[in-house]
Amino acid sequence: MTPPRVELAVLPTALHRMPRLEKVLDAGPLYVKRDDLTGFGISGNKARALEYLIGAALTDKADVLVTGGSPSSNFCAATALAASRVGLECELLIPGSAPSTPSVNLEIAKAAGARLVYDTVARREDLDAAVVNHASGLRAAGRHPWPVPRGGATPIGSLGYAYAARELAAQCNRDGVVVRTAVVATGSGGTQAGLVAGQVGFGLPWRVIGASVSRPAPMLAEQMLRTARACAKSIDLEPPTAEDVDLRDCRGEGFGIASDEDRRSARLALEHEGLLLDDYYGAKAMTLFRTLLADGVPTPAVFWYTGGVAEALAALEQGA
Ligand SMILES: *Cc1c(COP(=O)(O)O)cnc(C)c1O
Repeated sequence: MTPPRVELAVLPTALHRMPRLEKVLDAGPLYVKRDDLTGFGISGNKARALEYLIGAALTDKADVLVTGGSPSSNFCAATALAASRVGLECELLIPGSAPSTPSVNLEIAKAAGARLVYDTVARREDLDAAVVNHASGLRAAGRHPWPVPRGGATPIGSLGYAYAARELAAQCNRDGVVVRTAVVATGSGGTQAGLVAGQVGFGLPWRVIGASVSRPAPMLAEQMLRTARACAKSIDLEPPTAEDVDLRDCRGEGFGIASDEDRRSARLALEHEGLLLDDYYGAKAMTLFRTLLADGVPTPAVFWYTGGVAEALAALEQGA
């Protein structure tokens, strides 16, 4: 069965060799999978998830998408843009009250016509339950809401990355490369869950290693395994097991707070390969990539560049 999909992304995204980073890190071959260039707004990895989330919402005859996220949320901005593309309304729950200086992603969401709902919960951890509640309220008022948890981390949202794993495999086959390690930034876990479902289900030769940037690793790993298994089963693939889920704690001082080493990682990527990495995701994933390579992880290795360009630009503008 082919799950319903709405085309948002421009695929396949490019796979580039990173010769200058290879030299400075004295490791390789190294590649970057350019999912900053998924070609829908500046949604990065979120475009792949939304193709299937929106596909399911439309099949379900929904008229309003409901999700939530922190003010920096790339998923909220991307969902608002995707909703406008297909003519759905979009309501976004943001923890706490309206910030005095709005973030770039909330500005994108507002400009795209989404309704921002503040003051439902104080902490972002409580958003998923609030999203379900908010959707119930809309349903009681005669609407057809489609609630999506933070980051779109559901078996349906993960489908985009299950197929992205196969996309990478096709590029590797074409180029005669056998990738052994793929490193990705992990927030809600939907991206890594999909990559693991695809890697195992399509029998691909690499190990996926995630950099957990916002949630404690053991708890999130369990949740990702459940998501990955359900995702795989929904498209008749062999589901992964606990050994296939490799998640490292890269939170440091907290979500969005880059350490000196993370800053160095971002600078290396920018100065050697022209990649703009943000403090929330990219910089921390690149620190993990460097650490793994220094520890002798099998190569060729791929850095899965998930985007985060909105926050990277905002930080540059603020002189961070
Ligand atoms: C959302 C996001 C991630 C993490 O993806 P999840 O599916 O939430 O784990 C990584 N990088 C960037 C830039 C993101 O916006």
